[in-house]
Amino acid sequence: MKRIDNHLPTEELQALDAAHHMHPFTANGELAQQGARIITQANGAFITDSEGVEILDAMAGLWCVNIGYGRKELADAASAQMLQLPYYNTFFQTSHPPVIALSARLAELAPAHLNNVFFAGSGSEANDTNIRLVRHYWALKGKPSKKTIISRHNAYHGSSIGSASLGGMQAMHAQGGMPIPDITHIDQPYWYGEGGDMSPAEFGLQRARALEAEIDRLGEDNVAAFIGEPVQGAGAVIIPPETYWPEIQRICKERNILLIADEVICGFGRTGNWFGSETFDIKPDIMTIAKGLSSGYLPIGGSMVSDDVAAVIGGDEFNHGYTYSGHPVACAVALENLRILDEEKIIDYVRDDVGPYLQAKWRSLADHPLVGEARIVGMMGAIELTPDKAGRAAFSSPKGTVGLMCRERCFANNVIIRHVGDAMIISPPLIMTHAEVDLLIERVVKSLDETLALLKSEGLLKAA
Ligand SMILES: *Cc1c(COP(=O)(O)O)cnc(C)c1O
Repeated sequence: MKRIDNHLPTEELQALDAAHHMHPFTANGELAQQGARIITQANGAFITDSEGVEILDAMAGLWCVNIGYGRKELADAASAQMLQLPYYNTFFQTSHPPVIALSARLAELAPAHLNNVFFAGSGSEANDTNIRLVRHYWALKGKPSKKTIISRHNAYHGSSIGSASLGGMQAMHAQGGMPIPDITHIDQPYWYGEGGDMSPAEFGLQRARALEAEIDRLGEDNVAAFIGEPVQGAGAVIIPPETYWPEIQRICKERNILLIADEVICGFGRTGNWFGSETFDIKPDIMTIAKGLSSGYLPIGGSMVSDDVAAVIGGDEFNHGYTYSGHPVACAVALENLRILDEEKIIDYVRDDVGPYLQAKWRSLADHPLVGEARIVGMMGAIELTPDKAGRAAFSSPKGTVGLMCRERCFANNVIIRHVGDAMIISPPLIMTHAEVDLLIERVVKSLDETLALLKSEGLLKAA
């Protein structure tokens, strides 16, 4: 058997990867030609590839490494827990100290009425749990017809069949027969792309009221819940206008439907509070958590459930659970991650210090000739690339062409930034120093300049 370690030459690693590893969200045939970038280690806000190049990771992995890479305390917590009790289940009237401690800690941190946790292995699983929770809740209350869940186009809620159905990603729905029945989607509060001549405030109200219209269309007795990310992450860091969430909440309350806040990205400090629901003053019945819960060091997710919903669900056997629900090692690592976030005041640091510092620099990118809007909340942000700033115009090239070019310039300049269409997005580790923010902005500006030069030389600086 061949041992895989960091000392194989890059080409050999790439060849083995191409031969045997199927990457998620990837055209694997194309990648096999070009070879994957192999990451071998990481520390703080930087990852290192197999050629020894240090790259600033402005995505915190996949929006998850909130406390940064290389924290030995988490490795120690995992090691100690593995030796003590590496695995036990929580199905058959058993429990264990790490899952108890983590549940209690999450109940302290979450908004007051959310005191109950159902654990999963990921955000996708947790959202699958949520589909069953809200439908079973209404069934137990004698309203089994309340089944439909309303979500939004361009939402991201995961990649399993249930969670991807909740999501509003067309490219995902196109493969494998989604969405599953009784899930519908309304338009998103994306002012830059879809707001036209309206003010953001008017537009926010209009898009929230689409929920009311959808409930009317379906009939209130058929609707179980609305689900939304406080800020859409994978959709391109779409920060709703201020008017949006208050109106959504009014409608959920008046129409007697549950509200699920998908906090998988927004949770654990990303927006400058423990949860995005605090930043946007949302009072959800259920919150989905994952990613920053363990800073990605181990897979774990869950549903934080209100006392009302938990009491109703508790009246019956809930025929649902995962082998790894409340996995002791993942719980121990998550608990240590929460301790670090708390004791090192990382969330205060985002709210009062590095957050505002990054926000000011990020917003100043709007002065670049290629940038139509720079938006940011806490430490998640986006810039919209455009050939015509005043008109918020799209490029004449197929959507994503320019975004991909810019991302490639960013990679070449050793900063990891993603593109969604022709928007560039960041979600860096929360522990970045001011100097690292400066480096990030410097590399982004260089990449924007190079992209602009390329667009000019290739004649692509044209509005649609
Ligand atoms: C990533 C993500 C998920 C899915 O989480 P996984 O752990 O990848 O299954 C769900 N919701 C949101 C908002 C996410 O960003």
